[in-house]
Amino acid sequence: MSDPLYHQDTIAALATPPGRGGVGIIRVSGPLCTVIAEAVAGRCPSPRHAHYGPFYGEDSVIDEGIALFFAGPHSFTGEDVLELQGHGGPVIMDMLLERCVRLGARLARPGEFSERAFLNDKLDLAQAEAIADLIEASSRAAAENAVRSLQGEFSRRVEALVARLIELRMYVEAAIDFPEEEIDFLADGKVAERLAAVQAELAEVRAAAGQGALMREGMNVVIAGRPNAGKSSLLNALTEQETAIVTDIEGTTRDVLREHIHLDGMPLHVIDTAGLRDTPDAVERIGVARAWAEIEKADRVLLLVDAATTEAVDPMAIWPEFVARLPEPGRLTLVRNKIDSSHEAPGLDLTAATPIVRLSALTGTGVAHLKEHLKAVMGYSATPEGRFSARRRHLDALDRAQRALTNGEEQLSGHGAGELLAEDLRDAQQALGEITGEFSADDLLGEIFGSFCIGK
Ligand code: GDP
Repeated sequence: MSDPLYHQDTIAALATPPGRGGVGIIRVSGPLCTVIAEAVAGRCPSPRHAHYGPFYGEDSVIDEGIALFFAGPHSFTGEDVLELQGHGGPVIMDMLLERCVRLGARLARPGEFSERAFLNDKLDLAQAEAIADLIEASSRAAAENAVRSLQGEFSRRVEALVARLIELRMYVEAAIDFPEEEIDFLADGKVAERLAAVQAELAEVRAAAGQGALMREGMNVVIAGRPNAGKSSLLNALTEQETAIVTDIEGTTRDVLREHIHLDGMPLHVIDTAGLRDTPDAVERIGVARAWAEIEKADRVLLLVDAATTEAVDPMAIWPEFVARLPEPGRLTLVRNKIDSSHEAPGLDLTAATPIVRLSALTGTGVAHLKEHLKAVMGYSATPEGRFSARRRHLDALDRAQRALTNGEEQLSGHGAGELLAEDLRDAQQALGEITGEFSADDLLGEIFGSFCIGK
């Protein structure tokens, strides 16, 4: 898939964050590395040996530092790579980078080093994405997941699925090639059994990827309810700080407030919304409209009620029109607040279709139950085994593969149609191949690597 012309140019970029630091690194990749090393460091160091000395400009010394050379293909990008490690000041780094450009390199685009690593088969696409996820990780758990993806945990599971799909397709195609035996082949139950096994494995990978994506991106939790239910108090109790203004004047939170917290390393975006009510106040009405917009795109909605004044525990009985507007009823948790006044016991109740948490945002009793519940909803497990980072793009590909297999299953059981089943198996394989980049369009690559930082 690699285009040889592409690699004729040499790219260079600052690999460390811009600004001042002990060390700053200029990374160079491509055929001019040896020429640049000779001009800047006086000689090209032998591969993987640190060479300390002056960095020469055109007519003066720019800095003193360490030059490292990695001869392709034994390098990150698979090409010759040169690292110039100097003192981390913006002027020095600019001068070194400019020197590399004058010697024939061009400035690298964002993510171009990783893109070359991918095009030269040093990494697959999911692994390259894991590098960006690792750098951007906002919690320990997200970083641990990204490392596991980088080491190939996700890719290996996808590849194992692809291998099983190919095997199954070959079996089905062999049956088609011998039409007189096709019916027997397809009807003997082996195909259905193997298809079911692949579907089960795919469902497991999808669940793990869903959690990985949630842990990477964080879960949006919207606190909704009538004015004065205690929404701002709950936001403060969850974030353990005074973010929202708490008053007993209805309509205090007129806009949407967002806070980012971590529960055992899992990112959570908690959104406090304006109290939902009909109001003549134009500003408040905009707040209510925004609240609805947040509810519609939430991963989890906490419907908060004042337990001291609300008898019912069935959300439909409390607020049918609210439940009717939820995109997915399964995303709802009922929170009975103010149990210090209603004298209910704190806790989590999972017996009904909608989970119920009883707590007091004011005293903090029961807030731990809500946190545990949210962690469970996100699929948190204390052991990190089997977890990896994933993106929406991967989930989308896994979903398409699942749909193709469901289709295939119908073709097989409903019509005994081997050819159509084979076609569906091929579609599923193609969708999974997009995850590792086996099948990928150029514009997808541009989109993925374009979101990386420069020097990566
Ligand atoms: P919001 O309008 O839904 O954001 O509600 P607030 O958080 O502003 O709270 C409204 C009123 O209820 C305030 O006077 C809070 O002190 C009070 N409140 C909130 N939570 C509790 C609670 O758990 N127990 C009691 N007794 N009062 C609470």
